Amino acid sequence: MVESIDQIRAAALKEIDTATTVDAVQDINTRYLGRKGLMTQALRAVSQLPADDRPAAGRKANEVKQAIAAACLAALERIERDGADQSAGIDVSLPGRKTAPGSRHPITLITTRICDIFTRMGFEVVEGPEVESDYYNFEALNIPKDHPARDMQDTFYVSDDIVLRTHTSPTQPRVMEKRQPPVRIIAPGKVYRCDSDITHTPMFHQVEGLLVDENVSFGDLKGTLTSFVHQMFDTQTRVRFRPSFFPFTEPSAEVDILCVICRGKGCRVCSQTGWLEILGSGMVHPAVLENVGYDTARYTGFAFGMGVERIAMLKYGIDDIRRYYENDIRFLRQF
Ligand SMILES: [Zn+2]
Repeated sequence: MVESIDQIRAAALKEIDTATTVDAVQDINTRYLGRKGLMTQALRAVSQLPADDRPAAGRKANEVKQAIAAACLAALERIERDGADQSAGIDVSLPGRKTAPGSRHPITLITTRICDIFTRMGFEVVEGPEVESDYYNFEALNIPKDHPARDMQDTFYVSDDIVLRTHTSPTQPRVMEKRQPPVRIIAPGKVYRCDSDITHTPMFHQVEGLLVDENVSFGDLKGTLTSFVHQMFDTQTRVRFRPSFFPFTEPSAEVDILCVICRGKGCRVCSQTGWLEILGSGMVHPAVLENVGYDTARYTGFAFGMGVERIAMLKYGIDDIRRYYENDIRFLRQF
C-alpha cells in the first residue's frame, strides 16, 4: 500500500511538472484528488488494512495528498506568470535599456568656469531679478531716456516702468545701494533683447563684474581682465583694449583677444581681422557711483560684462548660437 502511494505521488508530480495550461492542471487535480480520484481511492483502501498498519498508512496518504495539492497550486502560479510575461512581450534574453546619464550644458560649463576664475581673484557671486525696473536697468546706470538701448525694438517691456533686463548691469546699483566699498562682485544670469538671427537669441547669458574701492585704476581693470583671458583660454592668448562707449563707464573699452582659430592671420570667424571681441569694460562712470551715494572723490571702480554664449562659441568652436537651445542630443553629448 505504502509503495503504491509513493508511485501515485511520483506519477502525479511528474504530470504536474510538465503541465502547461490551467486546464491540464485542473484535470490532474481531479484525477488524483477528486471524489473518484486515485488518492481518494487510496485513502479509502487504508480502512481495509490491518488495524496496526492503518495509522502510518493514513498519515502517509494525507501527506501525499497535500503534496499533490501544493504542487498543483504552484503549477497554476507558474503558468499564470509565464502567460503574463508573454503578453507583456518581455524577452528576458534581450539586453537591458540604458539610462542616459546626462551632462552639463555648455552654457552652464562656461558660466561655472568664469565664476570659478573670478571667485579665485576675490570676487563674490551675486544674482539679481530678470524682471527689472526701468530705474535699475537704465536710469541708475546713467542711460538717459533718449538712449537707443531704450528703444522698443531692443527691450521687452512688461509695463511702462518694468522691463525684462537687457543686461546683468542692474546688479551693480542693486549691490552698491546695500553696501559700502570695497565691492567686488560678479553676477551671472539671463538677459533679454528683441533680437534673433545667427548670432543673436532673444534670451542669452551674461556675466557682469564690478570692483569699487579706493585707488582703483584702469591698470587694475587691464590686469584683472588679462588674467581672466589667460585662465579662460591660454597664456599665449594676446589681449587688446579698444576705446569704446558705454553710458555707465568712462573711459570705456572693448576687450579683444587674438583669434583663437587663426592666431591673428585672419579667418572667417574673426572676419579676417585676426581679433575677436569678447567683452565690454570700463571705469565706472561717476554718475553711477553718485546715484548710489558713494563718495566719488574717494572711490573709483571698474566694471565689465561678457556674453557667455560668445565665450562658449570661441572656446568650443561653435558656429551657430541657436545650437545651444535646440536640445539636439548629438550636439549636447560633445561637452
Ligand atoms: Zn581668425
